[in-house]
This record gives sequence, C-alpha cells and structure tokens, in this order.
Amino acid sequence: MGSPLSARVQAIPESPTLAVSAKAKALAAAGVPVIGFGAGEPDFPTPANVVEAAQRAAADPANHRYTAAAGLPALKQAIVEKTARDTGYTVTPDMVVVSNGGKHALFNAFLALVDPGDEVIIPSPYWVSYPEMVGIAQGVPVIVETTKETGFRASLDQLEAARTDRTKAIVFVSPSNPTGAVYSPEAIEEIGAWAAEHGLWVLTDEIYEHLVYGEATMASLPVLVPEAAPRTIVFNGVAKTYAMTGWRVGWSIAPPEVAGGIATLQSQSTSNVANVAQVAAVEALTGPQDEVARMREAFDRRRRLAVEGLSAIDGVVCPEPEGAFYVFPSFEGVLGRELAGHTIDSTLTLAEVLLTEANVALVPGEAFGAPGYARLSYALGDDDLTEGIARIARFLATGDARRGGGRGHPLDVTP
Ligand code: PLP
Repeated sequence: MGSPLSARVQAIPESPTLAVSAKAKALAAAGVPVIGFGAGEPDFPTPANVVEAAQRAAADPANHRYTAAAGLPALKQAIVEKTARDTGYTVTPDMVVVSNGGKHALFNAFLALVDPGDEVIIPSPYWVSYPEMVGIAQGVPVIVETTKETGFRASLDQLEAARTDRTKAIVFVSPSNPTGAVYSPEAIEEIGAWAAEHGLWVLTDEIYEHLVYGEATMASLPVLVPEAAPRTIVFNGVAKTYAMTGWRVGWSIAPPEVAGGIATLQSQSTSNVANVAQVAAVEALTGPQDEVARMREAFDRRRRLAVEGLSAIDGVVCPEPEGAFYVFPSFEGVLGRELAGHTIDSTLTLAEVLLTEANVALVPGEAFGAPGYARLSYALGDDDLTEGIARIARFLATGDARRGGGRGHPLDVTP
C-alpha cells in the first residue's frame, strides 16, 4: 500500500534547522553536555514588562474569546506606528495581518500570491523555509547563488539573469539568515527599482531589522524605492527583536487587496493569533525599548568573539557578518580530513560528527543551499560560545574534542 500522505506533504522535507535543534535538545535531555549553535533564537528571557502585560491579559475575559482573524486592532495600530518609527514606512492598519509568527505570515503570503508555475527568485544561502513554501504553493523557486566573495549579496546582474516571463516575485532579506549579510542602501535602491521596472513583487523579510552592527545600517526597500511599494510585502515579528520566539507573533504588511486575501486565507485556517500573545506584542512594540539595545550589544560582542575564534581555526574562513545573530563560515578547508574514524566528505558529515564526537550542534550549509559552509548561531552565553568554538578547534585539529587532546569518550567533554 502506498503512503496515505498527499504528494504535497511527501515532497516537504523536515526543517533542518529545527531538526538539528531537536537532536541537540534530545542529547542534552539525556545528560550529554551539548553546546547548541543550531537554534535561531535569542537565549535571553522575554523582557519583564512584556511578560507582565501577558499576565494581565490572561486575567481579562475579553482575551478569552475569538477576535478578528487578521489581528487585534490595538496590535495592528502598534505595528503601523512601530513601522513608521523604526523604518520610516508609512502604512495603514488595513495593510497589516497578524499571524502565528513571521513564518506563518510568509507562508500565507506565498499561498496568497503564487499560482502554479509562478517563479520566485530566492538568493542563496537562504532561510530554509522560503523554497519549501514556494513549492507548497506550487510555485518554482529559482535560486540565485551567492558566496562569501561577494559578501553573500546577490548582484543585479545575477537577479536579471534569473528573471523570466514567469517570474512573479523576489524574496529579499536584509539582514539575512543564515549569512548575516546586510545590503547597502544603494544596493537596495537598485534592486527595488529593478523589481518595480519589471512589475515583480518583493517579499522583504525584515525580522532582523534591529540586529545590525558596525557601519551597517538597516534600510527598508519600499521606503527607499516608493515605486516598488505597491508590489511589496514586508514581513516582521517580535521573535528575534524581543526574545519572543515562543510567543508566535509575526505579521505581513501588504497592499490592502493582498492583505485582504491573506486575511481571508487565515480566517479559513488558523483564525486569530492567541490574544494573550498579541497583547504581549503590543507591550513589546510600544513599551520601553532599552532591552532591545542591551541584547543587540551582547550579540555584537559575541559576534566578534565568534568571528575571532573561528577565524583562528586552520581550514575555517569566517567572514564578519553585519547583521542578525549568525556566523556563516566556510569549512571547505577541512573537507577530506580523516577525523575520529570518519572521512569529512561534506559539511553534512561534519555536522553529524561534530554533534556525536564533540557534542557541538551546528547547521550544515546544505540546509541553506550552501554546501561547504555551516551556520552557527551566536545567540548563546559567552562561556558556551567560547567552549563550543574551542571544541570545534580541538576536534578539527586532533579528531578529539576533549580538553588537552588525548582520545576519550565524547561524553568526557567538560562543558
Ligand atoms: N524570517 C527569517 C529570516 C527567520 O530567520 C525566521 C526565524 O528563524 C523567521 C522569518 C520566522 O520567525 P518567527 O516565525 O519565529 O516569527
């Protein structure tokens, strides 16, 4: 008997980033001192003012009921004001749909916009879910490859070479997951103008907007290129900025007709996001913002630690990311090595062996369309960060992650 699953679902692979974090969490639960560079989430607790707002909201019977599928009016208004404050984009509440995280907002938008056979240009390395979402909508992801030599930024020539008469949209992400690349305002202007000229939709994911470092600046495409705005959808959420990944609040901002389509889709599927989480998001967006700056400073410090530590390892090249909380080093220089009885023939193998032999979890570049690289999140404590990189260094040098060299059982690793 064949699988009872639809062809649609059979075609979807499990999210590799969630799989790595689940494996690492299972090992940790079994008492193995795993250091997890896999998870794409801040290690900080949600700020106290937000938690307190949620506690008050839980006690209010108004929040015990169904509410408008597209979001609480107070949250939509807060999103309108936050968007003007943080990026200078002027929008109206009828453009906003609040969904169950940025991921759900993106999923809805692809379903609302993409017809079978429509092509969507996605620069790689890409966040794992974009191509899968396009595929679920029966669209065709068209991957434009970038490398560390160009700072993982796609050029206009590359995008133009990927454009056909079936191209419906381009996914534009800055700062990027997994590379941390940030596009300059000039590059954003060029890409926005090109999209507008060819009538392409721009799906721009701004979820890491507050996490930019050094000289880099965050700029919003529809602000720099107003002529692209009528075909732009902006995605954002509270997860990364406010350490609220578990609360599941994200949103899309689209021209009203498209926002209406997304809202209809959501009304027939998930309805409103949990009201308590929505009220918490209102407090996150409108309350004091100093925690955001504090967390950003901590990430910036860890970013420098990570780049320095990884760059010192023979065979590893670690470009300095300008945004988000990931480093995306190349491990091409270690491929082919024999370590702890394994031939490291790919970064997929490297990630597996590092997890079992050195108890370090990272996500292989294969997950992001970039074999030879790996993603390490530096959203973890400074001590773990330093120890995790030391384990990688020891393992790559000797095939043994234990302090001081000598061979031993992997569980002997001291955290
Ligand atoms: N977009 C990017 C680029 C991400 O990295 C993530 C999370 O990893 C999301 C969107 C979705 O975030 P959430 O669904 O937690 O709001």
